Amino acid sequence: MPFHFQFRRYRLPLRVSVRTAHEIWTEREGIIVRLQDEQGAVRFGEIAPIPAFGTETVDAAEEACRLIGEWPAERQLREIPQELGCVRNGVNAALGELRLGAAEAVKTDNVARAVAALLPAGRPAMEQAKSRAESGFRTFKWKVGVADIGDELALLDDLCAVLPAGSKLRLDANGAWDRRQAERWLERCAERPIEFVEQPCFASASLGPRAVQRVEDALLGLAHDYPTPLALDESLVRDGDVERWIGRGWPGWYVVKPTLLGDVNGALARLKAVRATVVFSSALETALGARAALTAALSWDGEPKALGFGVWPLFKDGRFDGPLAAPFCRPEDVARIDPEAVWNALN
Ligand code: MG
Repeated sequence: MPFHFQFRRYRLPLRVSVRTAHEIWTEREGIIVRLQDEQGAVRFGEIAPIPAFGTETVDAAEEACRLIGEWPAERQLREIPQELGCVRNGVNAALGELRLGAAEAVKTDNVARAVAALLPAGRPAMEQAKSRAESGFRTFKWKVGVADIGDELALLDDLCAVLPAGSKLRLDANGAWDRRQAERWLERCAERPIEFVEQPCFASASLGPRAVQRVEDALLGLAHDYPTPLALDESLVRDGDVERWIGRGWPGWYVVKPTLLGDVNGALARLKAVRATVVFSSALETALGARAALTAALSWDGEPKALGFGVWPLFKDGRFDGPLAAPFCRPEDVARIDPEAVWNALN
């Protein structure tokens, strides 16, 4: 018996724009999929690509949804091409939940995970850090690689000075630096409370295999040369990326945005097998996709690191937000997310 497959594309303005080294986000585009099985059970998934990371575009994802058609067989849903990783993610999420049954969809072990507070780029980070610290956050993430390197390095000490004792600061360069710039930062980080530096350098696959190889070699070199851990983020969006970095002996951390991975369970099983240090992170998806991503994060039984989900309120329309950023995330916060409400809000 075929499934009933439907999808709705969304374009949601953000409450406050998010600036990274790649781009300024003023809205989020993606697709919500709805899948109904022969018994009438309904589950949802989210397709939230980030093309700047090397995923498919939303247009390509929409075309793929159209090709799936309204009454696909299960085989069709399982044979979505590798290069459409975000489509596979969204469809697999819905299909996986149908196969598991509702009760097992969200684990409810009584764990609370710390959440990292996301700080804006530049000097506005100071005020935000102070207010987030007052509300109890102790892990902070600052976007760097956005302004002049000298100005940002000068701000680093000011920012560290406003953080409570024992706090950890993550720096996310979104691949903005060349090797020399990364070295300047890593020299500076060595004696400061920097938990890790995320994606100091990056070359997207569109630049060709030689550029990618050169940057990957540089990342490995930097990871060996400096005491501050490095973390991969942009480097981990295609099927096989996790496996390739494991194969290269990556000594650093892995930032996993579950929403961007075609085969989340496969990638996490591999990371677990090598006892990798994993940080789960938002892809600025809606609450619906975040529910699946947070479920994966709360089920991870490796060393817990603060979750990179301190992003809400994110959307102008609060119906698409996940639980408001708080210093801890609990399974009941995730269980409260109602996927159908997100779907209905797009009507
Ligand atoms: Mg990042």
